[in-house]
Amino acid sequence: MTDKPNIRSLSLDELTLFFIKKGEKSFRAKQVYEWLWKKNARNFDEMTNLSKDLRKFLDDNFSIPHIKIKHFQRSTDGTIKNAVTLPDNLLVESVLIPTETRTTACVSSQVGCSLDCKFCATARLKRMRNLTPDEIVDQVVEADLQSKQYYGHPLSNIVFMGMGEPLLNYDNVMKAIEKITSEKALGMAARRITVSTSGIPKMIRKMADENPKVKLAVSLHSAIDDIRNQIMPVNKRQGGLKELLSALQYWYKKTKSRITFEYLVFKNINDDQKSIKALVNFAKQVPSKVNLIEYNPIDNNDTYQQAEDIVLEQYREALKKAGIVSTVRRSRGKDIDAACGQLAGKMIRE
Ligand code: SAH
Repeated sequence: MTDKPNIRSLSLDELTLFFIKKGEKSFRAKQVYEWLWKKNARNFDEMTNLSKDLRKFLDDNFSIPHIKIKHFQRSTDGTIKNAVTLPDNLLVESVLIPTETRTTACVSSQVGCSLDCKFCATARLKRMRNLTPDEIVDQVVEADLQSKQYYGHPLSNIVFMGMGEPLLNYDNVMKAIEKITSEKALGMAARRITVSTSGIPKMIRKMADENPKVKLAVSLHSAIDDIRNQIMPVNKRQGGLKELLSALQYWYKKTKSRITFEYLVFKNINDDQKSIKALVNFAKQVPSKVNLIEYNPIDNNDTYQQAEDIVLEQYREALKKAGIVSTVRRSRGKDIDAACGQLAGKMIRE
């Protein structure tokens, strides 16, 4: 780590102001910004359209920290998991999931997580810190490079389903999304980005107001308060399902963007008719679809177990009858612990 300030924490406006104060032309700021965000420069010497003096001046005053891929593993199904070292040596993980037509990067927003969802491996780490906007963007940059190298096409989608709760690191996640979508930086389409949340009503409303044009996914897992409180203690703290639903209706009113509910079906927890009815009732109240995701046990004596397939079918039937689209998402990258909820970083610090 260096003590010099991180130049990538400055916005284009801040960078411009800095150059003007120094008596430089403002277009220099644009050039530097492009090097940093479009051309992914790792040091000032690469910025060949700047004078040597200016490059040295920048180098004396700023650093360009960058994440490092510590190692990566490739699953038999092509999924890639990256262990990512941050500039302060903490570790997070990111995953790259290929299908025939697209590649999705699953990125982390925090080191660890404070939410304590009982079935999630990341919860065991507790939260250590928020990722900065550039640490989030870097995961996308690296994923794009890997996608081109290993699958022969650029990255097409991004999901905030790695480690952490993105809406509890809202400002940095929004700044990262700004960089990912801005034509002056990565220029990806916002509709290809999904922010996945355990459901923080206040922040869902805030995001609806600001409307960054991204998709919203909500990890629901139960539409019955008593059960959801038990498996996701955040439910109780945030005012329960009623508050969540009202925030989601507000989201739809503001954005007209349909919500995806992520839903795990556990043996003896939510595999009964009452749970199915509750989900149908809940999902009916806001334009939405449901992803039934396969559970990945996080250790050998896990109290949580995937329900029988027949129960998934019952869920699908009931949703279909109510006119709600659902899909069953089988796990990817299981053999390398890269599947949903398995991201924990075997060691959190190098
Ligand atoms: N905090 C955010 C994003 C990270 S979790 C959120 O809650 O949405 C990404 C998804 O993985 C969530 O839907 C989460 O509920 C799910 N998940 C967590 N642990 C899992 C596990 N062991 N098996 C399958 N999915 C899991």
